[in-house]
Amino acid sequence: MATAFRDIQPESYEPEQAHPQHGVIIGGPAARAKRIEYGILLSSMVLGSLGALYWTLTHATGWVEWSAFLFGYILINMGVGIGYHRFYTHRAFEAGPKMRLAIGIMAQMACQASVLKWAADHRRHHAFSDRVGDIHSPYIDGHGKKMSKWKGLGIAHFGWLFDNTTSDMNVYGKGLIDDPQVLWCHKHRWGIAIFSSIIFPAIWALMFGGPEHIIGTILIGGFFRNFFFLNFVMGVNSIGHVFGSQRFPGKDGSRNNWFMAWMTFGDGWHNNHHQHPRSAYAGMMWWEVDVNGYIISLWEKMGLVWNVQRAPKYVRDSTGNWVQEKKLAAKQASREPEEMSQADGGLMFQDAKNDSGSETTEAALTKA
Ligand SMILES: [Zn+2]
Ligand SMILES: [Zn+2]
Repeated sequence: MATAFRDIQPESYEPEQAHPQHGVIIGGPAARAKRIEYGILLSSMVLGSLGALYWTLTHATGWVEWSAFLFGYILINMGVGIGYHRFYTHRAFEAGPKMRLAIGIMAQMACQASVLKWAADHRRHHAFSDRVGDIHSPYIDGHGKKMSKWKGLGIAHFGWLFDNTTSDMNVYGKGLIDDPQVLWCHKHRWGIAIFSSIIFPAIWALMFGGPEHIIGTILIGGFFRNFFFLNFVMGVNSIGHVFGSQRFPGKDGSRNNWFMAWMTFGDGWHNNHHQHPRSAYAGMMWWEVDVNGYIISLWEKMGLVWNVQRAPKYVRDSTGNWVQEKKLAAKQASREPEEMSQADGGLMFQDAKNDSGSETTEAALTKA
């Protein structure tokens, strides 16, 4: 076991009690370290945002402060969606060491813990989506207890940050705990957070305004920007598992929610994403705006990333259900002789046996 992350998960400890699911730690120093770290990150964002509100009401803010907010929002949105999520969690594409480091730093500028922690936690979410073991579900808490709707929304949004469970890095951090870029980002996470929240907005203020803009830009373009965006990332976990439509129903509570998708540059097409988590694209139809997906395509054209993973294309079948275009075409082709037989009394083709066979295989795969 690599020891470069012993600050969040010590090498040896006795768990207070066993969790029914693999790789979930209850109590002990790892769970405590999680609560302390998330507590520092969230409370600084909340206090900074209250400061931003006070500053906006009592001082003249303008384009210096709000352009820093917008620029930073775009940057951390790309960092979280592409870096933390699509690359480090799901390996939706490949990239060289410099690019990996750059998107790791960009992700951590959102101040949502290290790439290592974020990706391991999110992998656990996918392993148990809305079932016992899920790290943040609006239906079931960290210990596997069912919750009422409103309590569940609160737990999935921010509550899970402070329960006494955490993800075992040895299980969910595979391929991350020995990655030099990941460990560099993890080691420097507090430095990156301070740079993002304070130093970067201060430099912005000096470049485009003057010293009198420094405090306002740090509060608005640093802390408030992080807190505002955090609510949409957490919103995908809470609202995005309750409100919205499901192209692929039945598997878990994940939803496609256009507002969340717009605010997170695509990750709000969350039902699509749960169906094909390794795809670099959360949007599946042209109208499903997926800014981070477009950026990945651009980076692919520029040669910065490669081996970009893509989900199969889906279309609606005659009953209105979404099916893979290739599967539908194959099905229609196999039925052709039967359709002919009805029209011209020719060859009969019995395909019921094939149909039920393929459905059984699909059902088995879904269960697995
Ligand atoms: Zn989800
Ligand atoms: Zn995911």
